[in-house]
Amino acid sequence: MSFIQLDNITKAFSEQGKPAVDKLSLKIKEGEIISLLGPSGCGKTTTLRMIAGFENPSSGSIKIDGASIVNESRALPPEKRGIGMVFQDYALFPHMTIAKNVMFGLNKWKMRDKKVRTKEVLELVGLEEYADRYPTQLSGGQQQRVALARALAPKPHVVLMDEPFSNLDAGLREKMRFDVTNILRRANTTAIIVTHDQKDAFAVSDRVVVMNEGIIQQIAAPKEMYRCPKNCFVAQFVGKTNLLTGKMDNDLRNIHTHIGKVTLPEESKERMENVTLSIRPEGCMLSEEGAYCGSVERVTYGGEYQELHVKLHNEPELSKAPMIIYAPVEQDVEIGSIVSFDIKPELVAMVE
Ligand code: ADP
Ligand code: MG
Repeated sequence: MSFIQLDNITKAFSEQGKPAVDKLSLKIKEGEIISLLGPSGCGKTTTLRMIAGFENPSSGSIKIDGASIVNESRALPPEKRGIGMVFQDYALFPHMTIAKNVMFGLNKWKMRDKKVRTKEVLELVGLEEYADRYPTQLSGGQQQRVALARALAPKPHVVLMDEPFSNLDAGLREKMRFDVTNILRRANTTAIIVTHDQKDAFAVSDRVVVMNEGIIQQIAAPKEMYRCPKNCFVAQFVGKTNLLTGKMDNDLRNIHTHIGKVTLPEESKERMENVTLSIRPEGCMLSEEGAYCGSVERVTYGGEYQELHVKLHNEPELSKAPMIIYAPVEQDVEIGSIVSFDIKPELVAMVE
């Protein structure tokens, strides 16, 4: 049985125009870490707020641990839902110590239990020595761990985090992705994390839910999402890609495109006339006698790789975009030079 179940949740802020969230259905298992990933304005925060109870859906229902928390006829208030929320700006009380901040969520507990639990969660987030400090005396990453400790203290069914990494600089962000996942795993908590950053989503979650314009585009584990994006939107949103159209061969494995024949990782399940392919840049490997050949129009040094834009020689239509290819950094590639490459079928996917 799923632990959290959203059924056909819709939220329309006004009568006219598209709803912010449109018939969204999602099942989450206990202990799972899920992220809602999508561009700004696609309805991620609205979805989270409906689960938390700060916003009521226009229609649809939500169940947590078998109990209905909101449906057409009733809505449980936020404090009765067993939900821990971590806000984007952490929302710590500046005039309270770290321990008091954490205890705040335990107001109905006995004093003795409050103290024990506060110590326990501060240990969990590695801040037991900071109990008597004030939020401003802590770094951004530490403040975030306090916010997480406060959310976890009452042992909620689920922890919701809205853009938890957006206020952190690149280095700290990477560390916090690791720390937050570790803490959630050790607490054995179910969590939903909202982010617009593909790297955040891939690093922290068991499954990623990609949304666009209020609608779920795909739900998959990170690796599957990257290797087998369902449609053009997902292919482009989770990493760079080359989108090509072509016609399927009789053997159902080869697609004839403007750059030549491209091979799928496995035979298509059905015969299709027109096909769109997503080819990842790292699936294109420079090779002396590669099957495809073109001239380099642009080289961008990316640190771990170089991004090349290659205009194919057998290009019948000048309007077609150049292929994006990642080349190893140690390889010298000059603008205007001719390169040839092969395409790894494992990094080719048919998309809608
Ligand atoms: P995201 O978190 O993915 O950036 P939001 O859920 O905040 O997106 O917003 C989704 C859409 O709903 C946006 O078009 C936004 O302008 C609109 N919206 C959000 N909250 C409100 C509100 N309280 N009143 C009217 N429109 C809103
Ligand atoms: Mg948002």
